Amino acid sequence: MFEPILTRNIHRPDSEKIATYLAHGGYEAARLALTRHTPAELIEMVKRSGLRGRGGAGFPAGVKWSFLPKDPAVPKIVAVNTDEGEPGTFKDRELVERDPHQVIEGVIIASYAVGAHRAYVYIRGEFFLGVKRWIKAIADAYERGFLGKDILGSGFDLDLSVHRGAGAYICGEETAMLESLEGKPGNPRLKPPYPAQAGLFGLPTLVHNVETLSCIPHIVLRGPEWFASIGTAESKGPKVFCVSGHVNRPGNYELPLGTPLDEIIYGYAGGIPNGRKLKAVIPGGASTPVLTADQVAVPMAFETLARAGSALGTGAIIVMDETTCMVEAARRLTRFFAHESCGRCVPCRIGSQRLYEVLDRIARGKGRPGDVERALELAQMVDGTTFCPMGGALSSPARSTIERFRGEYEDHIANGRYAVRV
Ligand code: SF4
Repeated sequence: MFEPILTRNIHRPDSEKIATYLAHGGYEAARLALTRHTPAELIEMVKRSGLRGRGGAGFPAGVKWSFLPKDPAVPKIVAVNTDEGEPGTFKDRELVERDPHQVIEGVIIASYAVGAHRAYVYIRGEFFLGVKRWIKAIADAYERGFLGKDILGSGFDLDLSVHRGAGAYICGEETAMLESLEGKPGNPRLKPPYPAQAGLFGLPTLVHNVETLSCIPHIVLRGPEWFASIGTAESKGPKVFCVSGHVNRPGNYELPLGTPLDEIIYGYAGGIPNGRKLKAVIPGGASTPVLTADQVAVPMAFETLARAGSALGTGAIIVMDETTCMVEAARRLTRFFAHESCGRCVPCRIGSQRLYEVLDRIARGKGRPGDVERALELAQMVDGTTFCPMGGALSSPARSTIERFRGEYEDHIANGRYAVRV
């Protein structure tokens, strides 16, 4: 049985309170980092731990830290991405609501390591409880001397504040989030320059999501080698998997990276209800390609899911049983992405609508000969031609369900089958 690390506190009574966090060793890692380690040592530790970002891209965290300029005269910023909007993903929300001090401790250590004295939390507007918990936790951390001037007598200063977003999916993309933090519409920026070079207000900015930052105190306390001993060759450490859909026990499960998908579905999440058979799984959030039932032995790791033709993404596992219509699933997901397009570039703004229209008519039993090829063409046209990664995300449901369940599409068109459920 895996001993939880990131979620070890969340089931304790009053887990969100600073007294609970302190009673279970909280802020010891920050004390150690600020008083016993140099910033360079901490960057090296995070590199050696093998920690990769948990927000979807999986970029090595320590390498990202090392990209920020070392000159102390250059002001730097840390931005915490709590804009969790990927359908099927609800881990950062739980980590913030139930253990916000673990994230703050990660922010303190990361800020010290990169030389940032200003940090911002960007949180999705609908997370009302999360906003409340962030604000209270930050106030308590200031009161106890973990934020503000001369933290723990180390001479290091850090200010942290919260900014609420308005619930746009695209603000989870780091540069759109920075635009929104600056008070502008949440449109993605062209990269390069990357945020580490020119981020918030043009200053070098380290952007991490909540789960990534939650790993940092444990790496400092227990060492990078311990962290790297968990997981697989290319995917290190624990991961919180969000399981939803047709399972008996949906929820967040913290397990080592590399845990087989079928073990999560049939073991931890209690299997499929009513004795039904598994049909398909989206393994990493709505933007990752769907897997078929015969692929579920795949280990949940960056490299193994890429080999299986999908991606780890945010680790949001959406389970679909044999009653699921894959055309309808693709239609709904594409509707979401079309709605969330920020409208800045034509392939995404128009392509997502056209793709949705084709899927919608197939799902309503009004598909025309050639519609499957039309949908594939549109998906192909959108992917890789857009300003930000949204193009790849929005084309994934249609493309992967057509590749793996093409017979269903053809059946809908040939027999006028109607699948739409309102
Ligand atoms: Fe906006 Fe979509 Fe273009 Fe991204 S791909 S910039 S979300 S219109």
